[in-house]
Amino acid sequence: MNITLSFANTTAILVFDREGSSANIFDSATLKELSGLLDELATQPEVTGLLIRSAKPDIFIAGADLKELSSARGERLDELIATGQALFNRIADLPYPTVAAIHGACVGGGFELALACDWRVASDSSKTKVGLPETQLGILPAWGGTTRLPDLLGLPEALPIILSGKLHSAFLAKRKGLVDEIVPKEHLKSHALGFLQKGKRHHTHNPITHNQAVAALTRVQAQKELQKKTHGHYPGPEAALEVAVASIGRTRAQSQQAEMEAIARLASLPETAQLIRLFFLQERARKHRHTEAEPKKIHQAAVIGAGVMGSGIAYWLSTRKLDTVLQDISPDTLAKGMKSISHLYADAVKHHVLSKTEAARGSDRIHPSAGAIPLHRCDLIIEAAVEDLGIKKKIFADLSSRCRPDTILATNTSALPIGELASSISNPERLVGLHFFNPVHRMQLVEVVRTDSTSDETLATAVAFVRRIGKLPVVVRDSPGFLVNRILMPYLVKAAAMFEEGGDPEEIDKAMLDFGMPMGPLRLLDEVGLDVAMHVASTLTAAFPERMSLPTVVEKLLKAGHTGRKGGSGFYVYDAASPAVNAEAIGFQIGTEDTPSDTQEILSDLMTSEAKLCLEEGIAETADDIDLAMILGTGYPPFRGGPMERGL
Ligand code: NAD
Repeated sequence: MNITLSFANTTAILVFDREGSSANIFDSATLKELSGLLDELATQPEVTGLLIRSAKPDIFIAGADLKELSSARGERLDELIATGQALFNRIADLPYPTVAAIHGACVGGGFELALACDWRVASDSSKTKVGLPETQLGILPAWGGTTRLPDLLGLPEALPIILSGKLHSAFLAKRKGLVDEIVPKEHLKSHALGFLQKGKRHHTHNPITHNQAVAALTRVQAQKELQKKTHGHYPGPEAALEVAVASIGRTRAQSQQAEMEAIARLASLPETAQLIRLFFLQERARKHRHTEAEPKKIHQAAVIGAGVMGSGIAYWLSTRKLDTVLQDISPDTLAKGMKSISHLYADAVKHHVLSKTEAARGSDRIHPSAGAIPLHRCDLIIEAAVEDLGIKKKIFADLSSRCRPDTILATNTSALPIGELASSISNPERLVGLHFFNPVHRMQLVEVVRTDSTSDETLATAVAFVRRIGKLPVVVRDSPGFLVNRILMPYLVKAAAMFEEGGDPEEIDKAMLDFGMPMGPLRLLDEVGLDVAMHVASTLTAAFPERMSLPTVVEKLLKAGHTGRKGGSGFYVYDAASPAVNAEAIGFQIGTEDTPSDTQEILSDLMTSEAKLCLEEGIAETADDIDLAMILGTGYPPFRGGPMERGL
């Protein structure tokens, strides 16, 4: 049993509580159960209202069963879609008012059910997330969502929600009209019941804005924006756009028929298969057990180094309710780090990611220190000081003397061989790499680096810790550059070499934008910082001289004071709204060759061949791990599946 029906006076209450699971999802069995309960409801003429809620602590309804949906084709898929549409239509057509009381994830099919209700009341908990992520999976909301949301909000407001597939916090959901009210969780049921007193909802639209002519104009603008973001690689949002636009002026039945036809077409596309595979790879990264060892709990952490990465990591840990010591060598450097943390908190408040109270509590969890304080209470220390093995060795020796013998010692090094730190500490089985990506608050990936001395317990603890802070771990073997930087470097170095030989930087970058990378390689070098890139490149070129060599043009640019975006110039100059090619950089070219016509193949093949070597050498455990790490760590185009899939 996944749903129960009960009555409180004349109000019917449907409670979703999937047996043996922490989540509610819609599979065929649940849809069938819902159908039976709606039949039963139809035999109760005294009912005056319906409330729908969940009994799960964190989830309203997490959407359709993706395993079932992604394997269904042809008639089976049509049937699944038609069943969901018909059931939600039955709820929408009930003669009495209906309300969804939402706490936790109300996503995809779960939100489509809520949309079929007259009213939506949500808890103000941070666990409440509302949205339609279908387009991120290459499909579209086809249980009525692509039709109902424009009807509820108007097309211009509904389109960004459907096309981005983003999930919204309770606050933003209220602001955008996805829910009617947000209330503390304790009052959710009573407020939801109160909404039933409002009666049926009447959708009224302003005929001046809600008509086909305005919809056609909206479509042109939305298509332009979509093209800019996706370069035409993602058929899911394109199809959703067409269906949503056409829904204005169509009957519900016509529009839902269009939803069904669109999902049937999208389901068979290779891009969709890759996006759904990516969803399952992420699920695996959330759950897969790498060892039998039990992870230890991390109650308190310390971060050494309050630079770009250290302050980013400390900020993130503090938002995740972890008390964190942040240490740097001087009050000045520490103050700089604390300032950037307060900017991050201010930004989070401004964008409604955190409330003012949450931000204030988070900041209080950071304990800055410019001195060598005892760290005995710390269960985990993450070193994020300068990229210099000698300095890191000294730091680790010092840390080892200031913490407990079982405190896990992690480094955030980008490329240095972590195993070389083992001799600087006692109990080297607690040594591990935790390689975060920049900017920490945006990047989901953390490479968990296992050294020869890392124990199973340390690995299990590091992996559990990464999950606990809401990031996705990929376990890699200790080797220069680990996985992501190792695969990226030959690609970046080659792009710099193409430029040096006379290639046009905009053409080189465009080739990879067209491939689907979020940024061209030369822009990326500027963004990373040419000094930082040189550092990583020198570690990697020393380790793999046969495949990588230092691009002299980067050295020349650095000598001339061009450090990349942070310094205002690199391959490009950043003083205008959009970057322009740096004329001085052109002066450093040594050849006059055109940009190769097969730039895209050359550069993407380099990533694939390095990825294959990484798998052969056991740097990653599986090809899937490589693909996931490259997609999350570099923005490798998800619709292509990753460098290993491309090499198949
Ligand atoms: P950064 O130069 O911005 O910050 C380094 C900080 O460490 C400085 O504040 C410095 O004062 C402090 N420091 C130096 N010696 C110290 C010591 N003995 N004790 C305490 N603090 C000390 O550097 P960053 O970009 O934050 O990089 C830090 C580490 O993270 C490096 O190992 C780097 O390779 C790695 N990393 C960087 C990035 C990136 O994009 N910047 C990404 C991933 C990993």
